[in-house]
Amino acid sequence: MRISDDRYSRDRLRLDIAMHFIRFEARTHTTRQWTGLTDDRIRKLYRAYLQDGGRRVARHRGKSPRQSAFFMRTARLRQEAAALASICCLLGLLDGGTGARPAAGVTRAAALCQAYETYRSLVSMPAISFEHAVLLVETLARGQELRCGGCPDCGVLLVTDPYALHPARCVRCAEGEAADNPAPARHRSRTAQLAGSAQP
Ligand SMILES: [Zn+2]
Repeated sequence: MRISDDRYSRDRLRLDIAMHFIRFEARTHTTRQWTGLTDDRIRKLYRAYLQDGGRRVARHRGKSPRQSAFFMRTARLRQEAAALASICCLLGLLDGGTGARPAAGVTRAAALCQAYETYRSLVSMPAISFEHAVLLVETLARGQELRCGGCPDCGVLLVTDPYALHPARCVRCAEGEAADNPAPARHRSRTAQLAGSAQP
């Protein structure tokens, strides 16, 4: 009995997570990959969700984003990627360099939903879509194109490019240096108020 109870709750959890993926506008193959449900079951779930009066969500077709360079493109994206990566480390999705074994299977999918939900609640206009969050987690887990690293000055977690010529620094430290050196200190980034750079 115990085994079937466990299987039942795992199945419920899988469906619940798939609903989160649908609301986050994940592509069907992403939902399949992370929940183990079949395409047919995901489609039925989506239809049932609409019939229950669920908000119509965009269903994206085609391939998921694959360019990890996206997260390095602007200061805002670098900062939001760092915030999301920090949450993922806290929730056990990434080891963050500690060597701890990251969550696997459906637990990992549940942690991803929780991480994305938390990120969205912290950032007023999120620049990272759920599909991009999936890309970030997968890229950081591989640890090749991007890695979790620390700001060399204050140690705050950053998403870094291992091939970058200069070590990455957080916005606050970079701006602190700019303040000591008046020439480039003309602008204060709007993103400076985001996670990882809050004023003490
Ligand atoms: Zn710093």
